[in-house]
Amino acid sequence: TATIIDGKAVARLVRERTAREVTELPDAPGLATVLVGDDPASAVYVSSKRKHCVQAGMRDLHQHLPGDISQRALATTLEELNADPRVTGILLQLPLPEHLDAPSLIARIDPDKDVDGLTTLSAGRLAQGAPGLRPCTPSGVIELLDAYQIPIEGAHAVVVGRSELVGKPLTHLLLRRNATVTVCHSRTRDLASVTRQADILIAAAGVPGLVGPDAVKPGATVIDVGIHRTDDGLRGDVDFATVADVAGAITPVPGGVGPMTIAMLLQNTVTAAAARCAAGRFASGVAS
Ligand code: NAD
Repeated sequence: TATIIDGKAVARLVRERTAREVTELPDAPGLATVLVGDDPASAVYVSSKRKHCVQAGMRDLHQHLPGDISQRALATTLEELNADPRVTGILLQLPLPEHLDAPSLIARIDPDKDVDGLTTLSAGRLAQGAPGLRPCTPSGVIELLDAYQIPIEGAHAVVVGRSELVGKPLTHLLLRRNATVTVCHSRTRDLASVTRQADILIAAAGVPGLVGPDAVKPGATVIDVGIHRTDDGLRGDVDFATVADVAGAITPVPGGVGPMTIAMLLQNTVTAAAARCAAGRFASGVAS
């Protein structure tokens, strides 16, 4: 049966690495989490991000804003965070209340502080292979593959899902690593016949149990990005119990991709701080 890819353990290693990198910086990076309103799930996510930020030795620069804040006032807050030198990363927790326009607010975030990797400029930098901040969940998937030494170069990777948050950025990351990438989505015909060709199969469709054993080549690596709350606890897009008999390696839900997302957020915050620091040295002529 398959190797179980332990996302909790890999996430811990990434957090430890990040904490070491923090100590090598002249100033502690600061993560500004912005929570609008009182959505309970968002509050839980944000408090977990803040806790890990502090544990990694970074400054927790949290802003909790009222749920009825205006578009203009929130835009102003984001501009202030852009201008604040203590802030190295800005995370606008989504979803926002319905009266706010998320895309135009995300667009306000300085791409060099865009630790979620969601601005148009960050997406463009990724697509063109330029340095920049990458979305956390897709980079967590790459980190898991690397931690288990699963070869990416030349492998056929099939990504199920083409969202701006997961599927599309993951496709670019895999291409940068020289995988042969096929992208599937809701209009793909005969999904299983495509996914069966995958050496690396990534399920990010948001459909519980979409990937069964017949959709998986024996020995393939299966990464399950999906998260669904059910009466029996969290489940993914992959039918873990049956696919584990076919796959060579597989991520569980929970405990696979999920823990990687916050770890990569911390990593991005340090990356942003280090880039800022290097740019500052350059500007003042200190860099060699
Ligand atoms: P989304 O709804 O934005 O995108 C889903 C994608 O899957 C779309 O491109 C769609 O075309 C495709 N799709 C839908 N049904 C399909 C089907 N039957 N066959 C093939 N393709 C199909 O979702 P998202 O934001 O990309 O998230 C996907 C899943 O990952 C969700 O379950 C979400 O909760 C989870 N997620 C997990 C994390 C994490 O930290 N682990 C982070 C983000 C999202």
